[in-house]
Amino acid sequence: MTADFLIVGQGVAGSVLAWTLDQRGCTVIVADDPAQPSASAVAAGIVNPLTGRKLVRTWKADDLFPFLHDFYTGIEQSLGVQFFHPKSIYRPYRSLAEQSDYSALTEDPSVRQYVSQVVDNELYSGSINNPFGGLEVTGAGWLDLTEFVRIIKGYFIRKNQYFEGSVRDSDLVISDTKVAWQGIQVNKVIFCDGAQGSQNSLFGYLPYNPVKGQILTAVAERYSIKNIVNQGLFILPIRDGLIRVGATYSWHDLDWQTTDEGRSFLESKLQAILTIPYQVVAQQAGIRPSTKDRRPFIGTHPERSPVGIFGGMGTKGVSLAPYLAEQFVRHLLDGEELEPEANISRCVSLYNR
Ligand SMILES: Cc1cc2nc3c(=O)[nH]c(=O)nc-3n(C[C@H](O)[C@H](O)[C@H](O)COP(=O)(O)OP(=O)(O)OC[C@H]3O[C@@H](n4cnc5c(N)ncnc54)[C@H](O)[C@@H]3O)c2cc1C
Repeated sequence: MTADFLIVGQGVAGSVLAWTLDQRGCTVIVADDPAQPSASAVAAGIVNPLTGRKLVRTWKADDLFPFLHDFYTGIEQSLGVQFFHPKSIYRPYRSLAEQSDYSALTEDPSVRQYVSQVVDNELYSGSINNPFGGLEVTGAGWLDLTEFVRIIKGYFIRKNQYFEGSVRDSDLVISDTKVAWQGIQVNKVIFCDGAQGSQNSLFGYLPYNPVKGQILTAVAERYSIKNIVNQGLFILPIRDGLIRVGATYSWHDLDWQTTDEGRSFLESKLQAILTIPYQVVAQQAGIRPSTKDRRPFIGTHPERSPVGIFGGMGTKGVSLAPYLAEQFVRHLLDGEELEPEANISRCVSLYNR
């Protein structure tokens, strides 16, 4: 059997890249090992153009955000499914001082385009502490990642182009122009193996900086807010009476296990803002494939050109993957330049070390 591409790993990165290549007419085999953990199976899937207390516009937001909306809704329309939920993010002010600080911050036109200060505060006051009102970040939303990954998996299964199991780097036979793996010959293998990429002998030289995160799911029957709330902690309504709450950030104890400490931290923040009863029904942990310079890892191997990587998506895989997959595919198929800040060529001195 022959194919153009073998995609190793089907989290959000592998799903988005496989779809983008498929839509360009390439034959793509997708391989994913369900026995290995996946950050996409844990993530809230929120896309947010303005982050942090200072409402900083995220990297390349003006390119990423229009693109991702078209990308996810385009798949929904073409397959007759739904997994993308555009919503605003409500940022309650912590104090009157913060209210006036935010008015000043939103004078900046690059920030103002993503903000609405005309907000019906009553929509929020029934479920959360909201004495000073707040603003809404527009152009945001969330991707139901479990559903998205399931739909893309089904798409490739129906095409007979899906393999369930592990692809070990040591099992690849790499020549100058092709890669052979288990009787299949492909022009390129692209690793989309998330945080496990730091253990991959081909790309382990890249400066990963993995970050553990935990998230809770809770029943809150009287919760009536439709938008996402963010005040240091996010509250994401996933359906009536069910919310997801997160997330923690830890650069230590880098395993995929939940901890009592993580739950207490999230619950204490939740109790400070929520004014209605809730009951935690699930807790999950995952490792974000973050990088030292907070930019993704995209490109082909410095010496083995039939092998590439599309990873290092850190805390923002859902917003980064669609635009960067398009860039990568144009690079691979049309020879266009890759986004220099994301190109792994920036790390070549580490490979040669
Ligand atoms: C608590 C938490 C909350 C988060 N919230 C958000 C959020 O709101 N918005 C957002 O954009 N991001 C969020 N993230 C970050 C997000 O999870 C990542 O950016 C994204 O999931 C990374 O996707 P990925 O496809 O690169 O990796 P993964 O999702 O980890 O996928 C890698 C896949 O590769 C497979 N795999 C690995 N090795 C092999 C192999 N050798 N052979 C076959 N298969 C293999 C694994 O099984 C897995 O399915 C959050 C993360 C956490 C932990």
